[in-house]
Amino acid sequence: MRGIAILGSTGSIGKQALQVIALHPDRFFVTALTAHKNAALLFEQVRAFRPRLAALTGEEVPVPSDLSFCEFRFGPHALEEVAREALGPDVLAAVVGVAGLKAVMAARQSGKRVLLANKETLVAGGEMVMAACPPDENGPTLLPVDSEHSAIFQCLQGAGPNAYEKILLTASGGPFRTWAKESMRAATVEQALGHPTWSMGAKITVDSASMFNKALEIIEAKWLFSARPEQIQVVVHPQSIVHSAVQFRDGAVIAQLGAPDMRLPILYAMSYPERLSTGAEELDLFALRHLTFERPDTDKFPALAMAYEALRQGGAACCVLNAANEEACFAFLRRQIPFGRIPEIVRSALDRHGHLPARDLSDIDRADALARETARRLLDETPSARIT
Ligand code: NAD
Ligand code: MG
Repeated sequence: MRGIAILGSTGSIGKQALQVIALHPDRFFVTALTAHKNAALLFEQVRAFRPRLAALTGEEVPVPSDLSFCEFRFGPHALEEVAREALGPDVLAAVVGVAGLKAVMAARQSGKRVLLANKETLVAGGEMVMAACPPDENGPTLLPVDSEHSAIFQCLQGAGPNAYEKILLTASGGPFRTWAKESMRAATVEQALGHPTWSMGAKITVDSASMFNKALEIIEAKWLFSARPEQIQVVVHPQSIVHSAVQFRDGAVIAQLGAPDMRLPILYAMSYPERLSTGAEELDLFALRHLTFERPDTDKFPALAMAYEALRQGGAACCVLNAANEEACFAFLRRQIPFGRIPEIVRSALDRHGHLPARDLSDIDRADALARETARRLLDETPSARIT
């Protein structure tokens, strides 16, 4: 039996993690759960999975009397406290945004294994997080949950002593893959939320539409697999069946295929190196009419070039890219700026703060805060604010 704490249990990843845990009660139990604001769902989950610890990182609310078996914490620091104090051995980081960074570090400081969905943490604090996650006697202490990175990790299980030459990082292309650049600028929130293949939380869905999700994933791949920027090739694959691939010196390409269903990478991180049933239908190759692959349109999606640039710049550039994108993405979701402003705001923040250092957590906090300040000022200056 492995105990698992889920940070962000009320979100898309968190709920699917609880689904696979419920399928395997003989293998996993829940040590802790956290949510930001959705107290009603958190209470329901605590009732069903009976963790000893839970947290609501937003405002304090009264706890129902039948949940007295569980200790509740409240406020922004509660996330870190739960990551540190929950019983081991595993913590699934499934919160959204850089809010997960300190909790991931706390989980590692208390010797826990981190299952990482929360890619923003690795984008903002890559060097520091990787330094905190060396493999131990039981194997990796940081396991990817993001589907592409799980795919790469799975492909590398067959690599033996061979180093890979290239990572082929697949991308669905999002809802605007076939749109003209000019129409995309004025896309609505509803259009951006209409992802063709995956059902996910709002932030990552908008990131998929702007391809900032793939930009974050390029950076995530660099850290997880010690890749040089030129070893990471984005391949647009609209069917989302090939979740990524790895190419070797002899030309062999090893890919991982599956239906677009996050339960597989979530459960693989939990049960690694074993594979367990996810409860999903198996992939029917005969039902797939075709699998297609395209080069990304780097003119329409400037996010990709910004990721390579930030990686080459090093220091806090990736942290700045992430922070400005978080601000711009949530402003778009609030209908404060048009979709086309998102990359412009990230561009300005990178130009202004991309040179900052990232030696430790206080450097990262500072770069994050400065990037957000610049992004917020640009939001206020957006002439077409309050778009309909
Ligand atoms: P979501 O918005 O559905 O859920 C986010 C969770 O985090 C919720 O439980 C919410 O209560 C909590 N949360 C939100 N803001 C918080 C804050 N400031 N402090 C603490 N907790 C907070 O998001 P999601 O789609 O489940 O994504 C979670 C993470 O996983 C993201 O980093 C995302 O990029 C990554 N991811 C998601 C998917 C997916 O299929 N949804 C796939 C790959 C990676
Ligand atoms: Mg992904």
